[in-house]
Amino acid sequence: VPLPEKALIAQIRRMANSGKRARSAKNSTQNLITGIGDDCAVLRITPGRELLVTTDFSLEGIHFRRDWHPAESVGHRCLARGLSDIAAMGGDPVAAFLSLALPRDVPQAWVRSFIRGWMTLAKKYDVPLAGGDTAQSPNKVLADIIVIGSAPKGKAVLRSTARAGDRIFVSGELGGSAAAVAELMAKPTKKPNPRDYPRHFYPEPRIKLGRILRENLVSAMIDLSDGLSTDLAHICEESGVGAKIASALIPRARVGKPAREVAHDLALHGGEDYELLFTVPQGKRVPARIAGVTLTEIGAITRSQKILLQDENGVTRRLPAKGWEHFR
Ligand SMILES: [Mg+2]
Repeated sequence: VPLPEKALIAQIRRMANSGKRARSAKNSTQNLITGIGDDCAVLRITPGRELLVTTDFSLEGIHFRRDWHPAESVGHRCLARGLSDIAAMGGDPVAAFLSLALPRDVPQAWVRSFIRGWMTLAKKYDVPLAGGDTAQSPNKVLADIIVIGSAPKGKAVLRSTARAGDRIFVSGELGGSAAAVAELMAKPTKKPNPRDYPRHFYPEPRIKLGRILRENLVSAMIDLSDGLSTDLAHICEESGVGAKIASALIPRARVGKPAREVAHDLALHGGEDYELLFTVPQGKRVPARIAGVTLTEIGAITRSQKILLQDENGVTRRLPAKGWEHFR
C-alpha cells in the first residue's frame, strides 16, 4: 500500500531524526540549526570555510533497477554519489537533501528500506538529512539529491590545477562496480549477491582520504564516477594538460564468487567505483595507504594535451574516453 504524501514525509522525518542525539556533539550537526519541518533548513556557516554544493539525479532504469537493486542499496548509492563529490574536493559533508518522486505502486516497505540504506551511510559520515520534497511520479522512481559540504577557504581541491610533471594516482581498485553491471546484463534473471559486489551495491565514499589528501598532498582531484578514461580526461581538459598512464599499473578489483580480477576494459572505462583520481606535484612522497585505502601511481601529467595509454606490450596509443553507460 503506498503512503499518502503527508504520512511519507512524517515517516522520513522520523527515520532521519532517529539517532540524532548521538550525533549532536559532533561538528557537522552543529552546522545544522533547523532541518526537516520548516520552510527552509538553517545551516550555520563556519567562519574561514567555504560551502561545497553538489546535486545528483538517481533514476530508475538508468542508475538502478528495482528488480536488481535492493532498496537499501538504492538509498545508499544515492547518497554515496553526492558524498563522493564532496570527497573529491577534499571537503567535509555538512547536510544532505533528498527529493523523492515515487510511482503509486511502490510499497511502503520499499521506501522504508530505501531510507534505512540512506541513513545507515548518513550516520557513518555524520550527515543529517536536512530536508527535501516528495511527489508522485508516473511510473519510475526518481531521487534527486543535494549534498552540502565545506572546506577551508581557498583549499577545496579542483580539477583544473594539475600541472605537467605531476604524478597520477588512484585509490583502491577499479572496475568492481562495472563488473557487477556486466554480470547483471549477462544474466538478467540471476540476481548476484550484493555481498559479492560491495563496490557496486554499497560503494564507500572516500571522505577521510579526500580530506587528508587535500591537507598536504594533491594538486588536482576528481572522483571516479564515469570511469578512469573519462574522469582523467575531465582533469586534463580542465587543467589544459595531457597524461600518460600505463595499463599494467591500473589496480584491478577482484569481485564475484569465486573472486576473479576484473577485465582490463572494466578497470579502464567502468564507472561508479567512487574511488579518487588525483595528481601530486613532483617531490612529494605518497604513502602506500591512507585511511586504510591503497594508493597506486598509474602515470604522469604531460604538457602535450594528449591522453596516452601504454599497454602491457609497451605500445603507446591515444586513450579514448569511453565512460561506462549502464542499463541503457
Ligand atoms: Mg564527481
